[in-house]
Amino acid sequence: MSKSATDKIQDLHNFGEFGGVNPSISDSSTYTFLSAKTMFDTFEGNTEGCYLYSRHSSPSNLYLGEALAALEGTETANVTASGMGAITAVILQLCDAGDHLVSSRTIYGGAYAFMKNFLKKFDISVSFVDITSSEAVEKAITPKTRMIYCESVSNPLLEVADIPTLSGLAKKHEIPLVVDNTFSPLSIAPAKLGADVVIHSLTKFINGTSDCVAGVVCGTKDFCLALKDVNDGAGMLLGSTLDSLRAASILKNMRTLHIRMKKHSENALYLAKHFEKDGLRVVYPGLPSHPGHQLMKKQFVSEFGFGGILTIDVGSLEKANELMELMQKKNLGYLAVSLGFYKTLFSAPGTSTSSEIPEEEQESMGLTDGLIRFSIGLDNDIHRTYTTMKTCMVQLGILSKDTISV
Ligand SMILES: *Cc1c(COP(=O)(O)O)cnc(C)c1O
Repeated sequence: MSKSATDKIQDLHNFGEFGGVNPSISDSSTYTFLSAKTMFDTFEGNTEGCYLYSRHSSPSNLYLGEALAALEGTETANVTASGMGAITAVILQLCDAGDHLVSSRTIYGGAYAFMKNFLKKFDISVSFVDITSSEAVEKAITPKTRMIYCESVSNPLLEVADIPTLSGLAKKHEIPLVVDNTFSPLSIAPAKLGADVVIHSLTKFINGTSDCVAGVVCGTKDFCLALKDVNDGAGMLLGSTLDSLRAASILKNMRTLHIRMKKHSENALYLAKHFEKDGLRVVYPGLPSHPGHQLMKKQFVSEFGFGGILTIDVGSLEKANELMELMQKKNLGYLAVSLGFYKTLFSAPGTSTSSEIPEEEQESMGLTDGLIRFSIGLDNDIHRTYTTMKTCMVQLGILSKDTISV
């Protein structure tokens, strides 16, 4: 049997220089050379294991990159200062002026805004398509198309991408498939399913403590080296470099990722099932009512479950806001964007993380006003959380008293 991602991360071991159980943190922006010739070679990218300048690479960033490559099963990985730093670098590395890309229309708001508004500056055009329709994806591909872009489980609508099918299309047209896997680390392994490049916002589940912003590009050695090229690498030249101190702290948090993901998924499934039974409109890939449920089951690593994100629709933005404020008052979680924290986080995506998407488009993709996105926390007693949440919903008239089915 081949090693699981969790085992590969577990088996990594880098000691500190004094025998510390954690690798030493590289606290330097620049590195000395014993010979001038080696410095020249390093500039040319010919000397593996030599450090030049920390925007290019640093030992701490390489340790974290190694763990993330193990997570995704790719040859290597470059860490970045944010998820957006990873996304923008990959797009600008793969596309030249005049090129085109095909993207899912339900993606992270920042990625959407970059593609829709910013890529114009480079004369790069984008077709936004329904990613669950392989016909729509293929129809949008032109001779100028340089990549297919999607999220494995999309933000915030939780559409599940059929990665093997999309990979087949990408191969047929000889373009890379780029997948943002931020919502489903460990549970979905896009590279193993055929993706060429896998991106994460480490800010979310992977770091899991909501204390920093970071990202990663996982891919082949060739691609990751090209991103770091001093002459024309988008990673190197756009400058979204992660600080070594942060890389070290994210690496330490990654060691509990498998335990956290299981708990996030277990808690989210519990709430999704119960809320659905209560008659709420719940979207969660773990529910048989979800259109991507079977597909998710086909391509996920079951022990990590269906993920920690679910949405409910409470009918209107006013109700959504009232409920979120009340839940926060009852200490059920925080009214905050982002995900992967130990506490439950909730926000109304239409007015927050997806506000970059124009209202008409939000409507056409099913992003309704009353939608609340939950990133379910690590609560030890999820039943207690459920009953308290339900009390809030009854108090606001979202659920009637007699629906209580506990
Ligand atoms: C948050 C997020 C990003 C952006 O990551 P940052 O670290 O905030 O730059 C990209 N994709 C998805 C799916 C996200 O949730």
